[in-house]
Amino acid sequence: MTASPSFDRPADLLDSVDGCFQTRFNHTPAGFWSAPGRVNLIGEHTDYNDGYVLPFAIDRRTVVGMRLREDRLVRIASSFAEEAIEISLDELIPENLHGWSAYPLGVAWALGRFGADLKVAVGFEAFIDSDVPIGAGLSSSAAIESAVAVALNDLWRLGLDRRTLARVGQLAENRAVGAPTGSMDQSASLLGQADAAVFLDCRSLDSEIVPLGFQAAGLELLIIDTRVSHSHATGGYAARRASCEAGAAMLGATSLRDVGVGDLDRARELLDDETFRRVRHVVTEDQRVLDTVRTLREKGPIAIGALLDASHVSMRDDFEISVAELDLAVATAREAGAIGARMTGGGFGGAAIALTPQALVPAVTAAVLAAFAAAGYAAPNLFTVHAADGAGAVPA
Ligand code: ADP
Ligand code: MG
Repeated sequence: MTASPSFDRPADLLDSVDGCFQTRFNHTPAGFWSAPGRVNLIGEHTDYNDGYVLPFAIDRRTVVGMRLREDRLVRIASSFAEEAIEISLDELIPENLHGWSAYPLGVAWALGRFGADLKVAVGFEAFIDSDVPIGAGLSSSAAIESAVAVALNDLWRLGLDRRTLARVGQLAENRAVGAPTGSMDQSASLLGQADAAVFLDCRSLDSEIVPLGFQAAGLELLIIDTRVSHSHATGGYAARRASCEAGAAMLGATSLRDVGVGDLDRARELLDDETFRRVRHVVTEDQRVLDTVRTLREKGPIAIGALLDASHVSMRDDFEISVAELDLAVATAREAGAIGARMTGGGFGGAAIALTPQALVPAVTAAVLAAFAAAGYAAPNLFTVHAADGAGAVPA
């Protein structure tokens, strides 16, 4: 059996950040910090309903090299946009932050809301590089936020715990970037552990580590990035949130977290058909997360395939957030030997996941590529991911 890969020192990225930092800032960085992207194994659109999610940190990381300055200036650059952005800590408010730098600078601002004294703090220089695919639903945004959060937490000696840093990243994304997201992505990126998932209660923000054991069971998690992005994704997301809130209110619940599978008969009588189906997705998806956690613990990962399949059907038919490309990816992967597959992420495009026996990864990959070509769709991007450790300082 092959040992699980170690990502304590993502060597290529470190070299690149080290070299670019010196070229850009004429100094060596004081240190390097890194944070992973994430994939959500199950629990979709449950986060803003106070429910459960089960993401894991992946072996794709964002690395930041950082050094404190003696004045109040912040200078930040990335391989993604090498033009350095400069701002004084005196001007660091969400309204002044734009584009990609709103993610890292938003974190610096948000730390001020969680204990950092930005009136006296010194500025810093940072260079960022990443091998998390951007915009593929693997949360490159949480990776950059979490890498900067752990770096500043160390250099500014804030002593904040990871759970708090996840809220810092969420605040940055909500206020500086303007995306109304929960804290699942940051929690996975900060709390993840190798070969394990993060079972997160989005109401209490309590989390538990749940061993996955994919490789020991001869399984790989294959990502099928359709590269499709639909323009109605934002509107569709807002409409689904509104349906969930309306459904909870009509059922007299604070949130759909408080509605159980046993309440669905009553819900069917009280709600219009569309709202009922939106509610049924969230209520059954919460139950599927709980069932997946229990199944992983009691029977191991080979037994979770049916739960992944049921999650996809629920998103396709009840929540209506899948698209033809995702349905084709899921159906083809299953026919070619995956033991369970589902779309992952907010929907209307993005990626699917397929839990696949190691020996069948080439066959599933070939089948999906062929099916997309036959349907006249652009070629999807397929690759495997492994559950990796969360954010932290890179050992010297
Ligand atoms: P996802 O999180 O699914 O990858 P988002 O749209 O939430 O997609 O976040 C992607 C954005 O995050 C990018 O457009 C960019 O602004 C910012 N970002 C992510 N990674 C980096 C990076 N390494 N350097 C600079 N900006 C980044
Ligand atoms: Mg994101």
